[in-house]
Amino acid sequence: MADADCVVVGAGFAGLTAALRLRQAGRSVVVVEARDRLGGRTYTETRADGSYIDHGGTWIGPGQDRIYALMAELGIASYKQYTDGEAMMIVDGRTYRYRGTIPLSMRPWVSANLGTAFLRLRRMCASVPLAAPWEAPKAASWDRTTLAQWLTGHVPVRQARALLEMALAGTYTSAASELSLLFVVYQLASAGGPDFVLGVDQGAEDSRPVGGMGAVYRAMADRLADDVQLDAPVRSLRQDSTGVTVCCDDTQIRASHVVVSVPIAIAGQIRYEPALPLERSLLHQRMPSGAVLKCHAVYPAPFWRDDGLTGQSAAPDTAAAVTLDACAHSGGPGILAVVNEGPTARTLSGMEPRDREAAIIDALARRFGPKAAAPVGFTHQDWSVERYSGGGMISHAPPGVLTEFGPALRPPCGRIHWAGTETSSVMYGFVDGAVRSGERAAREVLAADAA
Ligand SMILES: Cc1cc2nc3c(=O)[nH]c(=O)nc-3n(C[C@H](O)[C@H](O)[C@H](O)COP(=O)(O)OP(=O)(O)OC[C@H]3O[C@@H](n4cnc5c(N)ncnc54)[C@H](O)[C@@H]3O)c2cc1C
Repeated sequence: MADADCVVVGAGFAGLTAALRLRQAGRSVVVVEARDRLGGRTYTETRADGSYIDHGGTWIGPGQDRIYALMAELGIASYKQYTDGEAMMIVDGRTYRYRGTIPLSMRPWVSANLGTAFLRLRRMCASVPLAAPWEAPKAASWDRTTLAQWLTGHVPVRQARALLEMALAGTYTSAASELSLLFVVYQLASAGGPDFVLGVDQGAEDSRPVGGMGAVYRAMADRLADDVQLDAPVRSLRQDSTGVTVCCDDTQIRASHVVVSVPIAIAGQIRYEPALPLERSLLHQRMPSGAVLKCHAVYPAPFWRDDGLTGQSAAPDTAAAVTLDACAHSGGPGILAVVNEGPTARTLSGMEPRDREAAIIDALARRFGPKAAAPVGFTHQDWSVERYSGGGMISHAPPGVLTEFGPALRPPCGRIHWAGTETSSVMYGFVDGAVRSGERAAREVLAADAA
């Protein structure tokens, strides 16, 4: 039995930030992490040639002020995503090259319908109060509507609907029929709207930390030194009037407060004694994650840049639904990220890795030409089966959940405080949201201590 002022459960961005801020405020902290590594839904592999691959969360963008501030504090610079060329959209076997967020080179009625849908979504976002989306004027009706129903009713042009469905449902790595419209609008609004969430330049994929996300989480862990315990899944939290006992398989830690930063989709795997208040307990059963598979093809050089391409492409119903240039700040070697989400990710997840790799490379070669057929390296990261993530990228709310259980998202339950990107009302689902949630949870613990 060890003692600390606070135990933080989980060493992702939310947990490490909470721990860092508490340490800076003079509190003793122990971070307990289930995995044998740091970072949670971010996971950086540094390669022998000095380049790096972010298998999970990767990009940052303007407005994500807390991750930028944290990087500045830790002395980590950022670099811009490569956008000096054209992106590609492949629909019904036809390739459209374009610049910007909306592919204006498609048939005019498709582009116009996409433009109208963006306009509508922007207006809807403006009506959502971020701290309490369940109080939005149309919260009740939007929370009874799925994203699929809304797309059917408001985006009449089939190709526009298919593209928007892939982009939006893909963000939540689920089918559009699983997602509450209120949740989708809330998540978009939390990040400033659809232009940011679906955008690259000046959007959610504007930049990356030099060294990848690992440079940031490793620097935080360095400052916490011996206070991070890996391979220590928390099994139960026993709370009484004087503190909380955190039980792992081999250790117990007694603390005045606990910050739980695990994804909400798996927060219910921890046993809470006494049982959590009903609303919180039921919330844990109602915010699942989707499926996402992120692979990387490595080439001697980013050959697509010489072909006037950014490396960004989208092709619904192929084995490489989304691609993005994922080169390190030095530019070489050529690293192409391939992201498959939702139903496609589930299908690919069930394949033998060798067959999956062949299917993805075949899709890349059809899109980018013969040079794409011969990568010198290939990586797979199947978040769908990661036990301590419960899927990826983020937990979402199906219909009815935000209006019924949303108010239980953030308030502490006695000495248990909740962090994690899903508790952030700004930049929900992003690394920046995770950092914000960690900082908010740390402030909460300090305030509770002072009371
Ligand atoms: C493929 C993919 C791509 C993404 N792309 C981006 C992107 O480009 N930009 C962006 O901003 N965001 C992106 N995200 C989302 C981003 O990674 C997450 O929002 C963020 O990392 C969440 O941080 P967190 O600390 O809230 O949760 P997590 O990172 O999930 O941290 C929770 C930690 O708790 C640990 N844990 C779980 N259960 C227990 C237990 N019982 N006991 C102890 N520890 C436990 C986990 O192992 C984990 O380390 C992406 C995510 C994925 C999966």
